[in-house]
Amino acid sequence: MSKVEQQALVSCRGLVKNYGTGNAMVQALRGVDLDVRGGELTMLVGPSGCGKTTLLSILAAILHPTAGEVWALGSNLTALSTARRTAFRQRNVGFVFQQFNLLPTLTAAENVTVPLVLAGWTKRAALHEAFKLLDRIGMHDRADHLPGQLSGGQQQRVAIARALVHHPRVLVCDEPTSALDHKTGTAILQLLRAVAVEGERAVMIVTHDSRIFEFADTMAYMDDGQIMKVERDRASFVTSTSATDAVPASASSQP
Ligand code: ADP
Ligand code: MG
Repeated sequence: MSKVEQQALVSCRGLVKNYGTGNAMVQALRGVDLDVRGGELTMLVGPSGCGKTTLLSILAAILHPTAGEVWALGSNLTALSTARRTAFRQRNVGFVFQQFNLLPTLTAAENVTVPLVLAGWTKRAALHEAFKLLDRIGMHDRADHLPGQLSGGQQQRVAIARALVHHPRVLVCDEPTSALDHKTGTAILQLLRAVAVEGERAVMIVTHDSRIFEFADTMAYMDDGQIMKVERDRASFVTSTSATDAVPASASSQP
């Protein structure tokens, strides 16, 4: 086994994804192999329509491939039943999207509690956990604000807190900075990289925002449903102390 494979938290081999049938069929993925390591940022980049979101969705156990295999955290996702794959996703995967998808009538803290409440936590225990996390990402004083009262960057921080509150080992982000200005986008990337490093998480980011490419440890370049090139060990900057401080550490126990 190669070094890369040993370190991979998520791997796929021979992934094919077709949408539709007959003349209307679109081949979104045409044989993708990838190893995603823990403790670093992996970016999937490439032109619109090349299959980035499809690949991310399959690696995050949202979508089932037409052919090929996905291994994540030691489980063969492609061999699991739909119910078990859903359970795997709820336990192990966090999601961050371009549109922050916060619930407008809930406060920042209440938004962060949603995954825990769905997992059966009491509201009180979930709020306690949410406040801890918001504190660590410098959002404590905004915990009681509604999303409409927050800036885009603050909303994305809340969305990241929500994605991390159940301590997933895998975090997937689809165009997380495209609704943000450059300075805010840079701060979000510093936070995501710190999240990856400190939590030994596999963090995958789909983007076509070339201004944030410098933050990737691994870059996978896609075109027309295939990976054309993978660059490893490329992040050259040092994560800032403030971003590192902002990260939830190890898994906490459930009440
Ligand atoms: P990207 O994220 O790189 O823009 P996508 O993974 O969204 O690419 O899409 C890859 C290809 O699959 C595109 O041609 C797109 O139109 C097609 N596609 C994506 N989702 C669907 C769907 N649900 N039904 C049919 N075609 C789809
Ligand atoms: Mg996309």
